[in-house]
Amino acid sequence: MMLRIQKYDLDVIYVPGRDMLLADTLSRAYLPESTPVEAELETVNMVQHLPISSDRLHDIRSATEKDTTLQLLIKTMSQRWPKDKSQVPSEIRPYFSLQGELSHQDGIVFRGERAVIPDKLRSDIGSRLHSSHLGVEGCLRRARECVYWLGMNDQIKTYIAKCDICRSVDNKQHKETLMSHDVPSRPWAKVGTDLFVFDNKNYLITVDYWSNFWEIDYLVDTKSTTVIKKLKAHFARQGIPDSVMSDNSPQYASQDFQKFCELWGFQHVTSSPGYPQSNGKAESAVKTAKRLLMKAKAAGQDPYLAILDHRNTPSPGLDSSPAQRLLSRRTKTLLPTKATLLRPEVIQVSQKLTNVRVHTTTDQLETWTHLPRVTV
Ligand SMILES: [Zn+2]
Repeated sequence: MMLRIQKYDLDVIYVPGRDMLLADTLSRAYLPESTPVEAELETVNMVQHLPISSDRLHDIRSATEKDTTLQLLIKTMSQRWPKDKSQVPSEIRPYFSLQGELSHQDGIVFRGERAVIPDKLRSDIGSRLHSSHLGVEGCLRRARECVYWLGMNDQIKTYIAKCDICRSVDNKQHKETLMSHDVPSRPWAKVGTDLFVFDNKNYLITVDYWSNFWEIDYLVDTKSTTVIKKLKAHFARQGIPDSVMSDNSPQYASQDFQKFCELWGFQHVTSSPGYPQSNGKAESAVKTAKRLLMKAKAAGQDPYLAILDHRNTPSPGLDSSPAQRLLSRRTKTLLPTKATLLRPEVIQVSQKLTNVRVHTTTDQLETWTHLPRVTV
């Protein structure tokens, strides 16, 4: 709240409830307008809260300094916006309708909590947004969290349309199967697990039904005990789930695994002939993970950064990312993100769940069988 109101000239004073006058009365009793004296305002330094490396910060600041449009914008903000849009210089006219959301500090312009990126750095930030080859919608959802510039959406769409790696890897739409498993009531109550092969190596996937957050582990061998060890590490971190879903492959059908579930006290549900799709969650997480790894490999990029990006990308149809739903916070990535956005915040997801059939494209890296509706 302090960050948002700092561009206004007001004092916040605590008044006990019994002495509170009606807000409606107060709102009409505003003071005569006066020129804001910005230098005298106690302000929260937004720039200090940007967890961007000092080099990058320096880049944004110096590019803003050389950007004539943004300089004119800062000048207009420091003085006063003309009442009429037609009186605004044409270069910054598109910003007229955003004036209530704009602010500037330490030579950087903000729209709300998003840093306004000067022209010169846009293609660089654009390529960063797309560094993990998330699809258009995923990239836009990421971008809207932390950065802004005029025409950003179109520019990002064009950039991705031209990306060779995205064009080379699976662009077909595939239909999602609808599953009838009950939806868990909290994060990490129900997890799915499966093995997969990528690049001639064996991996284990473990996915949380609630958040769609998945973990992958490299397996030195495919022994049941190796799989158990990896699962134990996850359960030590996130807690023991109520139930674990898997197929009937030997790793899960072994005595060792049965002993594991008895000792650790969780229910083990395996897919049955009448229930062939019961491990669908893990299977669709495998598809997502493989696509991500394939793109990272094709681009010669760090797969872990791609996974980090994926976990912080708001899911289709939701305002939150897997990280936010499982960990109750965004985790820091290479993208400029305001520190306030990195603070823990519990995502309220209502118990009312709806069945939604989702058509996935490469845009929608996650698949939803039951889409929790977000309560606002
Ligand atoms: Zn791409």
